[in-house]
Amino acid sequence: MSLRFALQLNPNPVNPTRRAEIMADPGFGRHFTDHMARAVWTPDGGWQDSEIIPFGPIPMHPAAAVLHYAQEIFEGMKAYRHADGSIWSFRPAANGERFARSAQRLALPELPVPDFMAAIEGLVAADQVWVPQEGENSLYLRPFMFASEPFLGVRPANEVTFMVIACPVGAYFSGGVKPVSIWLSSTYTRAARGGTGEAKCGGNYAASLAPMIEAAAHQCEQVCFLDAAEGRYVEELGGMNLFFVTADGRIVTPELGTILEGVTRGSILILAKELGLEVEERPVAISEWQEGAATGAITEVFACGTGAVVTPVGRLVWEGGEVTAPMTGADDSVAMRVRRQLMDIQYGRAADPYGWMTRLA
Ligand SMILES: *Cc1c(COP(=O)(O)O)cnc(C)c1O
Repeated sequence: MSLRFALQLNPNPVNPTRRAEIMADPGFGRHFTDHMARAVWTPDGGWQDSEIIPFGPIPMHPAAAVLHYAQEIFEGMKAYRHADGSIWSFRPAANGERFARSAQRLALPELPVPDFMAAIEGLVAADQVWVPQEGENSLYLRPFMFASEPFLGVRPANEVTFMVIACPVGAYFSGGVKPVSIWLSSTYTRAARGGTGEAKCGGNYAASLAPMIEAAAHQCEQVCFLDAAEGRYVEELGGMNLFFVTADGRIVTPELGTILEGVTRGSILILAKELGLEVEERPVAISEWQEGAATGAITEVFACGTGAVVTPVGRLVWEGGEVTAPMTGADDSVAMRVRRQLMDIQYGRAADPYGWMTRLA
């Protein structure tokens, strides 16, 4: 039997006028709903105290292990409102399974997928009014788990807290899809074999911030990381996976191992076959990108993830050069076609032949 997340109603929800103001221009990650899900784990009691509670600050002991040793993982997913008012999520079990794999790597307790789903369903049911109706807005869901035990010794924590918070978010590209510029870092790497590259943990993001500053200094918005062993192969961006489309009808993406296994990445691999492209998961040398984009052997490059769905990659910039693939951002590019197809499924405008959508409310 899965955990029950009983609802403790917020006696002071955001008033409807203020909520309407927020929903009109939600931005990303600044405005949160009225409730949040919470459960606590101990070795003896397992998962307990599972509840949907009023949204608000959480008491934290200054010695909570997460603040010192970063024993923390998270997920990112969305709830979409369809034209008939129903609320859906895209492959939520895939996020739940990845959350369990991340937990294992960070020596956190595994939260069974049915419990992960129960938390999501409980929160979305309580905060239905926060799921946007307009355009390509959605409710972003942020499950996370952290070592809450107050203890400075270095070992897996004996008290762990799981939470889900939610915020309405606007269309990622409000003024139309815009290609991103990417800085190729030769100073920093993201993940090494045996490291935490495959886990969705806060520590990976903390380590990506200095490279982001380097990117900004070169007028770039994102960083492309190369493999740590040889500095030759493309891995991914700080929070998005990469795809390459070739002139001879192939779609290529770096193989799994030290990269994060994106749900969007996996879904695009399936949709690309439908578009008649041959799919390849394999090492991609950075020289293949640099030379291929210049000669036109690579027609387009794009990044993907839950937030932006698909983002065309414009310039790739490195110390001493830059290149842009010729088809970047074109309306009939593979990037834009898979983007439309994915979003049509997510918003219920297209059939869902793979059973990717789960109804939440
Ligand atoms: C979350 C994330 C992605 C994208 O994963 P999706 O499941 O598609 O949202 C890609 N790379 C990293 C490093 C990530 O943390």
